[in-house]
Amino acid sequence: MNIRVAHLYPELLNIYADRGNIAVLATRAQARGHALHVTAITLGDRLDPADFDLYYLGGGQDREQQLVASDLARRATTLRSAHDDGAVFLAVCGGYQLLGRGYRDTSGVDLPGVGLLPAETVAGTRRLIGDVLLSCDWAEGSTLAGFENHAGRTTLDAGAEPLGRVIAGYGNDGESHAEGCRVGRAYGTYLHGPLLPRNPWFADRLLSEALEHQTGRPIELSPIDDTLERAAHEVAAGRARTRGGR
Ligand code: GLN
Repeated sequence: MNIRVAHLYPELLNIYADRGNIAVLATRAQARGHALHVTAITLGDRLDPADFDLYYLGGGQDREQQLVASDLARRATTLRSAHDDGAVFLAVCGGYQLLGRGYRDTSGVDLPGVGLLPAETVAGTRRLIGDVLLSCDWAEGSTLAGFENHAGRTTLDAGAEPLGRVIAGYGNDGESHAEGCRVGRAYGTYLHGPLLPRNPWFADRLLSEALEHQTGRPIELSPIDDTLERAAHEVAAGRARTRGGR
């Protein structure tokens, strides 16, 4: 099957090799006999939600976020109804902030968001930088390891679900022990570096949800050899445990 991905603003939201996440999705899809078909959608482009199973937004500096925010926000209704129809969203760092209700950046400018995630972000004075390790209760305690570098402090609405609980690192705000946000099939996170190469279970979850969106039935992906990926996860998790969040 063709898994149809909309990569939003790839030339603007792409720091810390966030594109690597797409490469992982493509390789893991191919290993199961599927193809990842990626379409770049940028400023002013037409977007038909009937064309896509998965939407991807990478990270960006405040400057790039300023360039994309209003174009993205004008697509809010389209994107929210795509999510209601079961499409998958992965948004990283700057993209995560803009999938929430908005981001007040380091110069005090209020950037509008899509409002798909029940979260709000305000830039702090000190950047939160380092390795991170999370535990995901909603996925039988599976862990996610990554790297964070953000000025934004993200606050989730009461009752909103984080992507994971912080074992090591800062997470959304350095205080709440929450990291990221998860609603239905929409996932926002500060983890990049990129995220998916060292967290293969999460890549597979996104792929099976994208396939389910397309076929309307649950899809189980056959296991593949993850020896290297698991080793990469252990290295990143170890770094987070020894020096994350300080
Ligand atoms: N500019 C945002 C911040 O500093 C996002 C940074 C990023 O995507 N790494 O919070």
